[in-house]
Amino acid sequence: MNSIQNRRVLSGMRPTGALHLGNYHGALRNWVDLQYQYDCFFFVADWHALTTGYEDTGSLESNVWEVVKDWLAAGLNPGACSIFIQSHVPEHAELHLLLSMITPLGWLERVPSYKDQIEQLSDKDLGTYGFLGYPLLQSADILLYRAQYVPVGEDQVAHVEMTREIARRFNHLFGRESDLEQKVQRALKQLGSRTAGQYEALRKKYQEKGDAGSLDKARLMVEGDARLSLADRERLLSHLEGTGRTILVEPQVLLTPTPKLPGLDGRKMSKSYGNTIAMREEPDEVARKLKAMPTDPARVRRTDPGDPDKCPVFDLHRLYTPEDTRARLTEGCKTAGIGCIECKKPLIDAVVSEITAFRDRAREFEDSPDLIRNVVREGCEKARDAARRTMAEVTEAVGMDYL
Ligand code: SF4
Repeated sequence: MNSIQNRRVLSGMRPTGALHLGNYHGALRNWVDLQYQYDCFFFVADWHALTTGYEDTGSLESNVWEVVKDWLAAGLNPGACSIFIQSHVPEHAELHLLLSMITPLGWLERVPSYKDQIEQLSDKDLGTYGFLGYPLLQSADILLYRAQYVPVGEDQVAHVEMTREIARRFNHLFGRESDLEQKVQRALKQLGSRTAGQYEALRKKYQEKGDAGSLDKARLMVEGDARLSLADRERLLSHLEGTGRTILVEPQVLLTPTPKLPGLDGRKMSKSYGNTIAMREEPDEVARKLKAMPTDPARVRRTDPGDPDKCPVFDLHRLYTPEDTRARLTEGCKTAGIGCIECKKPLIDAVVSEITAFRDRAREFEDSPDLIRNVVREGCEKARDAARRTMAEVTEAVGMDYL
C-alpha cells in the first residue's frame, strides 16, 4: 500500500431499495473509482433510515439487500473495499451515545438540513430525539473508522464540518495521555531505528526552527508507513506538532463532482418524484421510458426547430453521449434536421448498454444469495475490527476501561 492507499475513506447510503441511475452517477460511480485509491469502507445506513422511516420497517431488510446488490452491480469489488451494514457494527451506537454527552444541542439545531427536512417531510412526525441526532450519528459513523476523507457533495459539507468540531472537542477533553511518551517510543520502535531517527530529526527541526518542510516530510513518512497501526500513526502525528493525542481524527471533505441526473420528467431523478430509471431496469422498459420522455416544449411538430438547452433529454446526452455525436444532434435539433426519436436513439443505446453491464454483474449474486451475505458478513467483520480498535482507545481515553 502506498501512502494514499493507506488513507481511509468512509461513505454510506440509506437502504432505499433498488437504486436508480441518479444514485449511480451521483455517488456510486465515484465510490467505484475510490476503492482502488483508498482504504474504503462503504456501509448501508439502516439506522439512519429509521430516523425518518421508523413507522414502517417491513421492507427494510429487502431494501438493504437490494442496495448491496446494486453496489456490486455497479462494480464495487469486495476484494478492494469493505461493504457492511451499520446496525451490525454496534460500535456506531456506542460512539454516538458517548458523543451525545459532549455535543451542545445548539450544534445539532443549527445543522442546515434539520429545518429543511422537517419542512420537506411535513407528513411525518420528525419531532424525535433520533431525528435531531442523525447528524451526530453520521459523525460517529465517520469518526469510528478514523476516516481521513468523506466523499460528499456541497450539501453535506456542513455535516463534515460539524464532525470536525466534535472530534476537536473530544480530543480536547480526553486527549491527554499520561503515558504518551512511552507510547510514542513504542510506536517509534515499530518504524525501525533508521526511520525513527529520521522522524526525530525532522520533528526537532520543526519544533526548534519552525521548518514547515520538515513537518510535511515527517508527516508523509508516518502516513505512508504500513507498519504502524492507525492509533500509533495518529499518536506520532500529534507528537510531531507537540499537541495532545488525537484520538478521533478530523476528517476532510473529498468534494466529488455530482452531476445532477435529470429524471424522466426533467426534474432531479428521485424516487419521491417517480421519475427514475432503475440501475437494473429491463432494457425494453428503459427504451419505453426514454422514448416517452418530454423534449423541448417548443418542438411540437417534427418540422419545428428545437433548442437542446431547453430539453431534458439533452441533459442526459451530456452525460452519456460523446461530444462529436452531441454536436451533430445539436445541429440536427436546431435545424429540425432530425426528429426527437432519432435524437434519443444513441441515448437509449448508451443507457441500455450501461444497465446491461449492471444486470450482468448482478446475475452472479442473484443466482446465489449466500454470496452476497458472505460479502457483507466479511465486510462487517473488517469494519468491527476497525471499530473495536477505535472504541478501545475512546473508552480508555474517557476513563471507562474498568475491566
Ligand atoms: S431533437 Fe433531441 S435535443 Fe432536440 S428537442 Fe428533440 S430530443 Fe431534445
